[in-house]
This record gives sequence, structure tokens and C-alpha cells, in this order.
Amino acid sequence: MNILDIHTHVLPQVPGSALVCIGCGPIPDGALEQGHWFCAGLHPWDVTEDFDSQLDTLKVLLANPRVPAVGECGFDALKGPSHDLQEQAFVRQVQLSEQFRKPMILHVVRDFDSVIRLRRTLKPEQPWLIHGFRGGPEQMNQLYSHGILVSFGLKHNPESLRQVPSDRLFLETDGHDTIVQTISLASALRKTPPQTIEEQITLNTTHLLSPGS
Ligand SMILES: [Zn+2]
Repeated sequence: MNILDIHTHVLPQVPGSALVCIGCGPIPDGALEQGHWFCAGLHPWDVTEDFDSQLDTLKVLLANPRVPAVGECGFDALKGPSHDLQEQAFVRQVQLSEQFRKPMILHVVRDFDSVIRLRRTLKPEQPWLIHGFRGGPEQMNQLYSHGILVSFGLKHNPESLRQVPSDRLFLETDGHDTIVQTISLASALRKTPPQTIEEQITLNTTHLLSPGS
């Protein structure tokens, strides 16, 4: 496994260098043969009243070894269905994450409290990683104290990206620009050569997504 970009929606130029989010599918034609990696989940914006059928499709995807994570799923206080419905769909996906032993990639907008509360009450074994984190160091450390990881894109709080310990460093494009840009930003902020940053994040994504390796 050689993943640099932990969250995108487009197939990367170098197959296998990104975790590509496909919602509830389908996996693009030919992409498995090319060696791409995928993340499948029900985005909070897409949760419908009848999300059971969406989860049935998801289960089939999660059985695929080229789909090593569940997501993006989570909470959005500004968009999508009611909080109640978002939480029901989220809790069901936590169960799937535990059942398939695959970590979760989370989309969280203005509702970190719900994520922390559920991490405490559900006590999952699988890691959770909030993508596109833009909060400050205090919020980041609060999440870490609950065992919740974060990843950084081009828009981020520079102080958080500077302070994150190297064994918790995750970078992403979310489908915008290239991971090289995010890596060079992190390199400048952390006064670390880009090559070293690449090695750290590859190690971290491998550990997150295939902990046995
Ligand atoms: Zn995304």
C-alpha cells in the first residue's frame, strides 16, 4: 500500500496513491485492475429516510479488499437531512466498520460534539479520521484525546498542521489540486523535506488501512 492522499473523489494519476471515495458505488470500470483503492460510505448529505437499501449496497462494497475504509460519513449541521437521521445512518455505519474491521473516514461540519459523544458511548475499536480538518490545535488535541484522527487539505489551520505529531500526519486533496501541493505546504510549515513527509504519510496511511502489515 502506497497511499499519499487519504481523501479524494477522483482517480489519481498514479493508481494506488489515493483513497478514492465512491459513496455507495459503483467502483469505476477497470479501476480495480489498475490497482486503485476505495472508500465506500453513505455521506450525511445523501442519507434518505430509506437508508437501509443504501446500506445494503454499501455492505457489498465493504466486502471488497480494495475498499479498506468506510466513508465518508458523519455529520453536517449546515446541509442534508435532520440530525436524527444523520445519526441513525452514522451509527449503522459504525457497526459496519466494526463488523468489517475497517476504519472510518468522517465528514464533520460544526458537529464535533456528536462525534466525540458517539466515540465515547459506542467505544469502537476501529480508528476514525475526520477529513478536511480546519480547526485549531486545541480542538485537534481534544479530538486526539478521544482517539479521533484528522487529515489536512489545502485549507487548514497552519498551526495545527505544524503541531501534529508525525505519526498522526495525514494529508488529502478532497479532489482539488494535487497532493504534491499539500505535501509542499506541510513541508514548509513543518520544516521537513517533502520526501520525509511522503514517507511519514505513507507509513501512517498503511498503518491506518492495513494495520496487520
Ligand atoms: Zn470529500
